[in-house]
Amino acid sequence: MATVETVEGPIDSTDLGTVLPHEHLRVRDDAVAAQWPDRYDEDAELEAAVEAVRAAADRGVRTIFDAGPMFAGRNVEFMQRVAKKTGVQIVACTGIYTYDYLPHYFENRDVDAMAELFVSDIEHGIQGSDAKAAFLKCAADAAGVTDNVEKVHRAVARASLKTGAPIMAHSRPASNTGPRQVEIFLEEGVDPASIQIAHTGDTDDLDYIERLLDTGVFIGMDRYGLEMFLPMDRRNATVAELLRRGYADRMLISQDFCATIDWFPEEAVEGLVGQGLVRDWSMTLVFDQVLPALREEGALSDEHVGTIFVDNPRRWLAAGQ
Ligand SMILES: [Zn+2]
Repeated sequence: MATVETVEGPIDSTDLGTVLPHEHLRVRDDAVAAQWPDRYDEDAELEAAVEAVRAAADRGVRTIFDAGPMFAGRNVEFMQRVAKKTGVQIVACTGIYTYDYLPHYFENRDVDAMAELFVSDIEHGIQGSDAKAAFLKCAADAAGVTDNVEKVHRAVARASLKTGAPIMAHSRPASNTGPRQVEIFLEEGVDPASIQIAHTGDTDDLDYIERLLDTGVFIGMDRYGLEMFLPMDRRNATVAELLRRGYADRMLISQDFCATIDWFPEEAVEGLVGQGLVRDWSMTLVFDQVLPALREEGALSDEHVGTIFVDNPRRWLAAGQ
């Protein structure tokens, strides 16, 4: 039996149950929040996270993978509070969420020094706690796979090889980042079964998607509600076609929902919703709208749901054990 780490301690992987594999309990800039803590309302953030997670639990979700590492405001104590209040198992990650920038700390140290910190989070615990990270996170976006981004990818890969923890890589299909990200991981010797290319569902270019799938990786169809990247009907049509082509065992479905996020002033977020660029974004959208729509068109069976929300997250998380 494989054991996986949650922020409240290890559990048997078969107890993960129904999983939302890519969500965020809270997104903050680490540096801004450390310097101007009075600009943040921690009680309101906790309340928003608890409300979102409870709503997911009402739909049968037992575990949420929180995809926020350094630079996304990772805070293990906050995650533990949400887990305790909701009874939902929260799984934390380690890594660096950057599209290029790295602190001097990492600029002047090599890949292995970076990997060593990630390994420490996985083997010893996060932020002085004994709660361990269970997966690794890195990102490539509009800037592409820059030298700094490549450094993080190689560090994540080496930490994965050392610990068996799988990798979730934020990608940007519009910038064609996925293939190069996979290439780096494979060059480092990572098993494709331990690799998840997140945000692949931001495109409906089936050739691009199948090229990724041909390498053996998992793909994240994980930004439901973020219409600015791809509207829901096109996301659904893509998932439906991939199901028809037999890829149920390779897809992870989620919302990339952020219960709170400090990236934008509040009125800007309201503007995005007003313009329809963000629509019904939540931790329950896939259960409330996506799965019913896919069932209605005959693309999705109960067996698919079990594969996608129970088996795939477990297989990916425990692939290295
Ligand atoms: Zn995310």
